[in-house]
Formats: sequence, structure tokens, C-alpha cells
Amino acid sequence: MKRCIVAVCTVLFSATLTAQVGNTWKIIHAGSLLADARGEVATEQSIIVRNNVIVEIRDGYVTPGQVNGTANAQVIDLSNQFVLPGLIDSHTHILSQQEPNRREIAVTRSSELSTLMGVEFGMRTLRAGFTTIRNVGGDRNAIFALRDAINQGIVMGPRIRAAGQGITPTGGHGDGGGFRDDVFPEPHSGVCDGITECRKAVRTQVKYGADHIKYVATGGVLSQTATGTEQQFTDEEQIALIEAAHAMGRKVAAHAHGKAGMMSALRAGVDSIEHGSYLDEEVAQLFVATGAYLVPTLIAGHTVERIATEQPTFFTPEVRQKALEVGPIMRNALRIAHEYGVKIAYGTDAGVNDHGTNAYEAVLMNEAGMGEREILIAATVNAADLIGISDITGTLEAGKDADIIAVSNNPLEDIATLLQPRFVMARGNEIDLDVPPVDLFPWPSL
Ligand SMILES: [Zn+2]
Repeated sequence: MKRCIVAVCTVLFSATLTAQVGNTWKIIHAGSLLADARGEVATEQSIIVRNNVIVEIRDGYVTPGQVNGTANAQVIDLSNQFVLPGLIDSHTHILSQQEPNRREIAVTRSSELSTLMGVEFGMRTLRAGFTTIRNVGGDRNAIFALRDAINQGIVMGPRIRAAGQGITPTGGHGDGGGFRDDVFPEPHSGVCDGITECRKAVRTQVKYGADHIKYVATGGVLSQTATGTEQQFTDEEQIALIEAAHAMGRKVAAHAHGKAGMMSALRAGVDSIEHGSYLDEEVAQLFVATGAYLVPTLIAGHTVERIATEQPTFFTPEVRQKALEVGPIMRNALRIAHEYGVKIAYGTDAGVNDHGTNAYEAVLMNEAGMGEREILIAATVNAADLIGISDITGTLEAGKDADIIAVSNNPLEDIATLLQPRFVMARGNEIDLDVPPVDLFPWPSL
């Protein structure tokens, strides 16, 4: 050691120090364990966690010291619980939630406030058992700041993969809502028309940190225009923006309700279709042929239909009309997709429904004919595959992040048990579930 170069000695010393000081061990005793939603349930298992990663899963209840390094391990007793991987929501808008004065907020809320609201919404999502979310459109600076702050451990929250600004044609589903030019002087960076602009809009999101790209293939329910729910971008524009994203290694999610818009997006090579409301047999066959995922978001349809019915003045007339049309048909779309063997990834559109109610999607999927196991696969293995993070989450196994939840009953028999998680661990951190949500809005939750 005396002869070693000073710099090398320092590196060796600090590495040793980290190893000694930085290791936190946890041993979880799982009464029942579904480590992989495709596999069997095992009983009386021990999940051994070092810092944020699963080191090993063993039969029986391991005591501290039984495995090397675990002498001071914390034992977490879930021997009366059913343990499974943290859930994944492939479609969220974590920075906002339904508020009646949406038009005013669009021109008054700062990015900074959106980020901070995202911290609270993220915690609600985490406490609901969702340890990963794919955010699909929203204020670019706000969402990247939130994602990075969570990644760096500055604030706690679900793992976020973020799209940045959604890509939309001028006047399309993601383009403001008819504000005067002096209120919205410039279109946001996701607005594009024509092949060249659309490529640039995609590349701009990637430049500032997008993990994937979200674009609107058709009109949408909550945009303030009576422009329907059919195709908006041309076939050529969709091909251009998907090619531009794939060339930079980014997957693409397309918001789509109408059939022609879905068919166009699928032919253009999209990786997932969000909502898929007017999906029929022909669309289902094209899904299967291309291998794209459907992200059904039943709870979004359920929520907007409920609001439009129960609170007739909540939405503008344009929006209310679309909400009443699209809400009821989404379950039928999932039923057809499921029958045809379309790959399905779990996603809610949280922000339309309240953050923290994400698990209710599972109940609705079950009512639409999907079996409990298929729903769990959609919310873990499939969602991880769609997002491209199967190497770090989606199943519980050595080397993956410790994203672990527990519920009271076996969800393979009782899917509604997901509504009340008893234990949540995100990347090795146990989350306090007894915190009441901050009352952000002065009216009852929808
Ligand atoms: Zn959405």
C-alpha cells in the first residue's frame, strides 16, 4: 500500500468506506409471494434487500446473519400478507389533476408549482402501490425536474419515465385551446405540422430529456374543441415522427380514440396505443400483426362519463358531449382486444382520475373480462416491457430494484385487494402508508 499512487489509494479507501457504511440490509418475510405474475405463488419466502436492490430470494424465513452481511438487517414481517412486485402505471399525467377552472390554470400555473404538485401526486401514486409510472405528456421542464429529483433521491416518488411535451398538430388535442395570441404567443415545442416540423418536435423532446415520445393520433375528449375523436395527424406525419423517435432509441405512444387514427398509427409502427376507444376486430388484428401494446385507460372513460353525468356544468359543452360518447365504449374495446390476444399494458390516465386511485383500473379491467392473472401481468411484466425497464423492475428477482408491495388477499382470486396495499417499498425504501393526502383543492375529490 505504501507504494501505491495517492489517487488510487484514495479510490480504494472510499470504495471500502462506502461498502462498510453505505449498506442497509432488509429481510422481508413474505407469507405468500408472487415474484413473477406469470409464475406460481410460493409460501414462506425471504426477500433479501441490500440498499435499493434485491440480492436473493430464499425459501423459508431467514434470520439476520444467516446470509453474509445481514447481521444488522431489519426484518420486515409480511408473513400474513400476499407479496408481489410494485405495480406500474403506463399512462399518467402526474403534474395535474381535474380542476374545474382548468382554462384559467392553463395560463396562470407556473412550471415550478406543477413540479411541487407532482411531488404530492407522486406520493399518492406510490402509496397506492404504483412504484413506476410512464408520464405521457405535460409541462416539459416540470416533469423532467420531478423525474430527476426522484432519481437523485432529493424527493421520494415513483420511478418516472417521462415524455416531455406531447406532440400535436396545430389546433389538435394537445394544442392549448383557442387562447388569444397575446395569452399564448408561441405554440409549445410539441406543436408541429408537416414532416419536417414533426421530426423536429420529436427531436426537441429528446434533446431536453424525453425517455419516450407521446403524440396524439386523434382528437381527444378533454381538449376544448368540437373536433371529434378521429385522426388528426396525416399518415405521413405519423410515419415521420415515429421514425425520428425510433432513430434516437425512443419508443412512441399514440393517444388514439377513432379507428382510422389507430390504424394509421399502427401501420406507422407505433409502440403503444393509448385509450383505443373505437377498437374493433379489424384494429385488433392489426395490433396483433404489429405487436403494439394497448393501454386501455378504462378508469379515464369511467371518470369523465361520471363527471359529465353527475356534474353537467363541470365540462364545457364541447367536452361534455365527447365524454358521454367515449366513456361507455372503452370497456367494449378492451373486451375485443383481449379476445384477439392484443398485448395489454396497464395504464390509467391518472390526472383525469384522481392520483392514488390507479388500482381501480384493475377492477374495471376485470369487469371487462380480463382474468386476474392477466391484469397482474399487464401491470407488471407487460408494462415494464413496454417502458423498456424489464431489467430493473416488473418481477422480483436477484439484481432487480426492490419495488415490492403487499396486499391482504391473493389478487389472483380477489383483484380488488389491490385497492388497499398494506406495504409499499420503492427502490428499497419503505413508504409510510398512514399519511393522509394533502387537501390540495377546495372541493371534494371526484
Ligand atoms: Zn392521457
